[in-house]
Amino acid sequence: MRAVRMTAPGVLEHTEVPTPEAGPGEVLLRVGAVGACHSDLHILDAPAGVFPIPMTLGHEIAGTVDTVGAGVVGWSPGERAAVYGIIGCGRCRACLRGEENRCRVTPVGGVGLSRDGGLAEYVVVPASRLLPVGDMDLTQAAPLTDAGLTPYHAVELARPRLRPGTTCVVIGIGGLGHMGLQILLATTAVRIVAVDTSTAALDLAGRLGAHHVVQAGPDAVEKIRELVGPPPDGADVVLDFVGAQATLDTARQVVATGGQLLLVGLAGGTLPVRPVADEPPPVPFEAAVAVPFWGTRAELHEVIALAHDGRLHADVQTFPLAEAPQAYEALRRGDVHGRAVIVP
Ligand code: NAD
Ligand code: ZN
Ligand code: ZN
Repeated sequence: MRAVRMTAPGVLEHTEVPTPEAGPGEVLLRVGAVGACHSDLHILDAPAGVFPIPMTLGHEIAGTVDTVGAGVVGWSPGERAAVYGIIGCGRCRACLRGEENRCRVTPVGGVGLSRDGGLAEYVVVPASRLLPVGDMDLTQAAPLTDAGLTPYHAVELARPRLRPGTTCVVIGIGGLGHMGLQILLATTAVRIVAVDTSTAALDLAGRLGAHHVVQAGPDAVEKIRELVGPPPDGADVVLDFVGAQATLDTARQVVATGGQLLLVGLAGGTLPVRPVADEPPPVPFEAAVAVPFWGTRAELHEVIALAHDGRLHADVQTFPLAEAPQAYEALRRGDVHGRAVIVP
C-alpha cells in the first residue's frame, strides 16, 4: 500500500509499504481521511530518538472497517468509524477512570505518535479505539478526533468559569482554534474574542460567530484589554492554541485576576508564573494555568454528537495522499485555513 512516512527527522516520504494485518483485538481500517495537525510538524522537527523512525504519520483518522482481527466483537467490515488516537496503558489510575489522556504509563502513546498512523491506504488500530460516525462525511469525521476533541476537552476544563456574562479570548484560529470557537458557541454563552496574525483566520472567526476579532501584533494586548477590561479585570478564560512566546505573553497580560489560562499550543514559548513581592505578578493572582492534552473517548463521543447535530463543522481543504508533504509545507507557511485533510 502507499503511505507517507517520516523516514528521518524532518523527512517525509510518499512510499510503498506492506499492507498491515489486524492482530487479535485489532481492526484493519481503510483510511478515508486524515487531518494534517500542526503537531505533525513538531514531530517532524523533533530530534532523532523522540519518536519512532520510520513511522507513518497521521493521528486524526476516519475510515471504513476492512477486516477485524481475532476476538473483536461489535465491529464488522463496511462500518465507518473515527479513531480515538490515544492508546493508554488501560490499567493505571487515570486510564481506569477513562482519562487515557492522563495515562501515567504511556503519556503520549498513540496512533501516529508511538506506532504507524493513518497517512496511508490502511491503518491497524485496536478495535477499542473506534467510535461510530454513521453516514458522516469522513473528511468531516477525521478532524473531530483531534482538532475537535482537544479544544472540547480544554473547554470542559474551563467550563466552571465559562458562565453567561464572561469573556473568553481564543488565540490561534487554525485547525484547533476554529473548532474551539464553534464548541464555545455551541456549549457556552460566553463572549468570544478571537486573535490571530492571519486576516484569513480572523475572517473565518468572524464568519463562525466570534463576537470580536483582534489582529495579533505589538498592540494586541491593548486592543484586547479594551474589550475585556484592564488588569485586575480581564478575560475569564484564555485559550492559547499557539503557545509561542508572543501568544503566551499576550495571554498572561489579558487574563483576569482569578481567571484561567489553557495552554494547548506547543510552539515553544515560556510562561513565567512565579510572583515577586515588589513587581506586578507575571500571571494575575488567583489565576489557574492548565496544560490540556487531547481528550477522552467519552468527550470524543460528545464531539461527534455536536457534528451530527450540525453545530460543529470543520472548514476543510483536501489533498490526495501523494500531496501530503505539500499540505504540511502549506501548514508550515500558514497557508492552510481551517484544517488540511488528506484523502488517501
Ligand atoms: P494551525 O497551524 O492549524 O493553527 C495555528 C493558528 O495560529 C494559525 O491560524 C496561525 O495563523 C495562528 N498563529 C500563529 N502564530 C500566531 C501568533 N503569534 N499569534 C496569533 N496567532 C498565531 O495549528 P493547529 O493544528 O490548530 O495546532 C495548534 C497548536 O496546538 C500546535 O502547536 C499543535 O502542536 C498543538 N496541539 C496541541 C494538542 C494538545 O493536546 N495539547 C493537540 C493538538 C495540537
Ligand atoms: Zn494533533
Ligand atoms: Zn494508563
